[in-house]
Amino acid sequence: MPVERTLSIIKPDATRRNLTGRINAVFEAKGLRIIAQKRLQLSRAQAENFYAIHRERPFFNDLVAFMISGPVVVQVLEGENAVAHNRDIMGATDPKKAAPGTIRAEFAENIEANSVHGSDSAENAANEIAFFFAGIEITG
Ligand code: GDP
Repeated sequence: MPVERTLSIIKPDATRRNLTGRINAVFEAKGLRIIAQKRLQLSRAQAENFYAIHRERPFFNDLVAFMISGPVVVQVLEGENAVAHNRDIMGATDPKKAAPGTIRAEFAENIEANSVHGSDSAENAANEIAFFFAGIEITG
């Protein structure tokens, strides 16, 4: 399987509850390496740009308000098949539907405050990594 990189965000519901370390432990235990990481307070414009693909969805304004409600931790995860592997580790968007043992099943509060974001394709991963990180910040 190819070694890939994916963009992960630990969302404000999780940073608020001091879950960064526990979520990172799941990534590491499941074979994803955290090769870049920083904690940020997103501005409204930054959150709107990041989620521009969802602009027409009914929950867009709520999602942006949630994502700026506290700090996030943005990170680059590297590993075999990292994009799909991270989606499996995260679990379904709605924690009620997420498989047992996934991050969202274990930690998410609800369908919006669902603790983590993960890129959903290799193309989006490349764009999302470039949105948050300069090349010099990614150590490999
Ligand atoms: P993901 O790829 O699993 O994160 O899911 P999506 O790309 O469909 O949605 C992006 C994010 O929007 C999700 O992770 C949630 O934080 C939020 N979201 C998705 N569906 C809903 C919804 O029905 N209501 C609300 N309030 N937020 C949602």
